[in-house]
Amino acid sequence: MEDYPMAMVTAPGKVEFVKRTLPPMGNHDVLLRVKAASICGGDIHIYKGKHPLAPLPMAIGHEISGEIIQVGSAVTKAGVGDRVAVEPVITCRACPFCLRGEYHLCESIRYQYGAGQGGFTPYFVASENWVHRLPDSVSFEEGALLEPLAVAVHAARKAEVGLGHSAAIFGAGGIGLFLVQVVRAAGCGSIFISDLLEHRLETALKLGATVAIHAAKEDPVRRIWEETDNLGVDRSFEAVGVEKTLHQCAQCLKKAGVCALIGLFEDPHQVHFPVNLLVQKEIQLRGCRGYCWDFQIALELIKKGAVRLRPLISHPFPLADLPRAFETLLDPKSQTDKVVIRV
Ligand SMILES: [Zn+2]
Ligand SMILES: [Zn+2]
Repeated sequence: MEDYPMAMVTAPGKVEFVKRTLPPMGNHDVLLRVKAASICGGDIHIYKGKHPLAPLPMAIGHEISGEIIQVGSAVTKAGVGDRVAVEPVITCRACPFCLRGEYHLCESIRYQYGAGQGGFTPYFVASENWVHRLPDSVSFEEGALLEPLAVAVHAARKAEVGLGHSAAIFGAGGIGLFLVQVVRAAGCGSIFISDLLEHRLETALKLGATVAIHAAKEDPVRRIWEETDNLGVDRSFEAVGVEKTLHQCAQCLKKAGVCALIGLFEDPHQVHFPVNLLVQKEIQLRGCRGYCWDFQIALELIKKGAVRLRPLISHPFPLADLPRAFETLLDPKSQTDKVVIRV
C-alpha cells in the first residue's frame, strides 16, 4: 500500500498531515478504511499544547469508525466488510489490573494516538478484540461517537446513578451532552446542566435535561439548592476540568452524594478544594478514567434509542479541512457541538 496522510499536532495551534506507511499487521489485527472520526476535548487539549500527558508532536483522533477491508490470519471475531467502531486502547493483558478485567487501569495502558496512530487518516490498524460491530441502523458518524459515549457511560456507572436520583452536570460539551442522556436512561429524575454557552444549554434541554443554568448569568449552586428544597443533588459530574466547577460540583451535592470527575485539568497543580466538605457532608469524589466494558453498554443505548447522537453532530467536515475544523471548534461564535470528520 502507498503512503497515506495522518494528522498530527506539530506545534500549538498547528495541525499537519504527515506521511505514514501501514504498520505491520499482527495475526489478530484488522485493517480499517476509516469512514468517520470526531474531535474530542482531549484533541483540543493537544491542539493547544496543553495536554498534561501528551507532549507535542502528537497524533490526534481516537473516536473512529470504519469498514474492515483486511483481516489477519488468526482473526475470528470480525470479517471483511464489517462496519465497526474502534476502542482505541492498547493494554498489556498481563498486569494485575488487566488480569482482574479492569483494563482501563492497566499499568502500561496506552491509547492508539499516543502510540503514534491517530484517527484522522484513511487507514487504521486495530486488534479484532478492540473493534465493535455497528448495526446497520447506526451511521459511521454515530459510530465515531461511541467512544465519548462510552466515557459518559463509564462515569454514570462509577457514580452509581440510580432510579429517581437527581443529577447536576457541569459542562455541556460532548461528554456533558452524552451524560444528560445516559443518566436519564439510568433513571435520573431532575437533571441540571450548567454551561457558559447558550446553544449548548438549548441542546441539553432537547436531549432531556430538566433545568439549564447559564453559569455566567446565575449561580448554579444557588439555583440547584433552590430547586431541590435545599437538599442538593444526589450525583454531580465535573465535565469541564476547572477549579470553579469542581467546587460547584461539591457544593451542590446532597449529603452522602457522589461527585464524578471526568474533566481533564490543564493545570492540575493549581487546584484547591474545600476538603472539609467531604467530612461535613460525607460526600465522595470519584475519578472516572476512560472506559472498561462500556462500549457494549453504549452500543445498546444507541440501538434502543435511549441515546440520540445525531443532534450532536453539528459540523461535518472533510478530512482535508481538519485544521479549519479545529479553528471552528475553538470559535465560540460557531455554535459547534461535536465536530465529525468524514474521511
Ligand atoms: Zn475522546
Ligand atoms: Zn495491563
